[in-house]
Amino acid sequence: MRIWLVILVSFISTFSSFSNNEIVRIGILHNREPIAILFAPLYGSYEVIGDGEVLYTIKEKEAIQVTNIGGQLHLKSFNRDLGTVNKVYFKRLKWGAIFKLKPTRPNKYEHQYFDNLTITPKGSKLKLINTVYIEHYVAGVIESEAGSSQNLEYYKVQAIICRTYALANKARHKKEGFSLCDKVHCQVYHNRSRHNSDIQKASNSTKRIVVVDSDIDIITAAFFSNCGGQTVNSEDAWRYPLPYLRSICDTFCTDMPHAVWEKEVPKDVWLNYLTKTYNFPVDDSLYANCAIEHFPEMREKYFSYIDSTITTPKIRMDMKFRSSHFNLIDQGDIIKFIGNGFGHGIGLCQEGAMKMSTSGYDFKEILHYYYTDVHLIDIENIDFFKD
Ligand SMILES: [Zn+2]
Ligand SMILES: [Zn+2]
Repeated sequence: MRIWLVILVSFISTFSSFSNNEIVRIGILHNREPIAILFAPLYGSYEVIGDGEVLYTIKEKEAIQVTNIGGQLHLKSFNRDLGTVNKVYFKRLKWGAIFKLKPTRPNKYEHQYFDNLTITPKGSKLKLINTVYIEHYVAGVIESEAGSSQNLEYYKVQAIICRTYALANKARHKKEGFSLCDKVHCQVYHNRSRHNSDIQKASNSTKRIVVVDSDIDIITAAFFSNCGGQTVNSEDAWRYPLPYLRSICDTFCTDMPHAVWEKEVPKDVWLNYLTKTYNFPVDDSLYANCAIEHFPEMREKYFSYIDSTITTPKIRMDMKFRSSHFNLIDQGDIIKFIGNGFGHGIGLCQEGAMKMSTSGYDFKEILHYYYTDVHLIDIENIDFFKD
């Protein structure tokens, strides 16, 4: 009896010891919600709770179909009808439980997730919310966004950035009843992490760590692919300055895959762009020369000293260049743009961070290299440090 009591108490504490910061609600298959899905436990059993009442306990190798029929949820297992409800909650019965989710109308590929799932109708479709332990979520995002072929130290960097972003943006989809969506709008989360065990290890070993600024506010943990040798001050590409997003010279990324790019643009297209977008008087010979001369040694915010409305980040967006750091060469009818880096250039340079991690730097050194005057703290201690 006593043993059972101990087991029961430890079981309850496992499930009730999570703080507000350790569970996140993720809107999955967001904006591509299906009409019907199959839910199937891959590891562990789940309680099927319809409108607050336990209807069934579903085990591994079983499946339940959930279909929106006339704005209500119809639940059906292979051999029995479980009725119609307005909300169904699939609740895991043990730690580490995993479920498979397969959209059947329309028919799409299967996903796998840790922890729990809530389904409610969304018009004629299904709104799906994965209530998930944050470190499971973080690992899923890392595998979706950074792939499965990096090293443990680099994954720790990504884990802290991903967690920092998630906790800073927990209210992003509040109106829709969840915290974050699973698309690039928030962070891409297509599946649980399953192809490299270092990813979950990195997430667990940096558990609860987030990046804060000198006021102990959670930072905007911006990152991008490659800076080409120098990152950007936040106000040069965005509207506002942030003290931790300062331009730094990066010596680590310059021989990485996305360090250099080239693009050829017909000269008339380029001159037309300047004339139409900025009223740039390319017919004036002085200005015409400026239109084809841009050889900055460092990153420059402005394309030309003559006109301060033309910024290199805007050119990057308009011309779909890989970065805002480029030179150009006049080749007659063609202008050849030769650029450095890939992405907006603000914050952490991923390829530089990868190089640092394989050169022996640890995750703390890497984060402090790219984010200026920041601290790494346990999210649970934020209030303590702020007081
Ligand atoms: Zn979103
Ligand atoms: Zn870089």
